[in-house]
Amino acid sequence: MNREIMDRLMEEYRLQREENAREEERRREEVRRKDAELARLIDERHGMILSFCRDAIRNPKHASPAETMRDYNRRIRERLTADGFPENYLEPVCRCEKCHDTGMMGDEERTWCDCLRERLLQMADTVGTQEESFEAFDLNVFPETVPEGMTVTQREEMRRVRQVCELYADGFPRQVPKDLVLYGKSGLGKSYLLCCIARRVRERGADARLVSSYDVIRLLRDAYFGREDETDGLFDADLLLIDDLGMEPLMENVTLEQLYHLINVRRSRGLAMVFSTNLTMQEIRGRYSERIASRLLDASLCRLIPVKGEDIRLIKGRPAPAGKKA
Ligand SMILES: [Zn+2]
Repeated sequence: MNREIMDRLMEEYRLQREENAREEERRREEVRRKDAELARLIDERHGMILSFCRDAIRNPKHASPAETMRDYNRRIRERLTADGFPENYLEPVCRCEKCHDTGMMGDEERTWCDCLRERLLQMADTVGTQEESFEAFDLNVFPETVPEGMTVTQREEMRRVRQVCELYADGFPRQVPKDLVLYGKSGLGKSYLLCCIARRVRERGADARLVSSYDVIRLLRDAYFGREDETDGLFDADLLLIDDLGMEPLMENVTLEQLYHLINVRRSRGLAMVFSTNLTMQEIRGRYSERIASRLLDASLCRLIPVKGEDIRLIKGRPAPAGKKA
């Protein structure tokens, strides 16, 4: 969770509730000034509520204020209307009926209100074109043929992979899921799926950072050499998604050490990572040394998802779903 954004939003909701209370007070004063008879009715109703409360404490079986209250409420509504006010003018004021501007719903199991999710989405910085989403994910771009070495059609295979990714994203913010590695040839939609996961995780209120492996290495190197340190999100985001692992330049051992450090810090903090890569498991071991590879691909911490099929960008007349990235 991005605490800064959440803190700002909670403050916004608190100020909204204060504003609501001021507005309620203002309306009560306005109504009283305009109609003395209405003011008397309101006071009487208030007195009744208090006496009912006292009564209920002394003799719980006895009092039933419902009938009398309904009668008062009806008379107050009628008078409000006659005075030219809306009949609900004295009811609690709020921007969101569902959560009464608390941002939270439910008694036993507290969940975020839709209005809060909406505000989070507006405030969270976004990556990609914002068009990538599970909802927009079009399975029709994948052929209904069975590629060599597979037992199902590529479309069926992608349906399965998409479902795995969607379930994964839906685990946030509550669960701390295992890491995920989507591996397979380029042009199968892996980058697109990373965008979908990032988007959904943000929609669910957690902080997801999606970066290319090239940028990860660049940021780590810059910080290491003291040029600029913009690595905070890499270490802190609830979910770090690294696209296209294997495409980054590995010029010095420093780079590998920094990558190893990043993985270890995030694991120790219980923060998840998602990778996409065109490399095979064997190529990962060759490229990153056994130490990093075994850490990265540790089966107890990481789930490997093969993405199979033919490069859909090469299938004539079919648009690539991943847009800007391979
Ligand atoms: Zn709400």
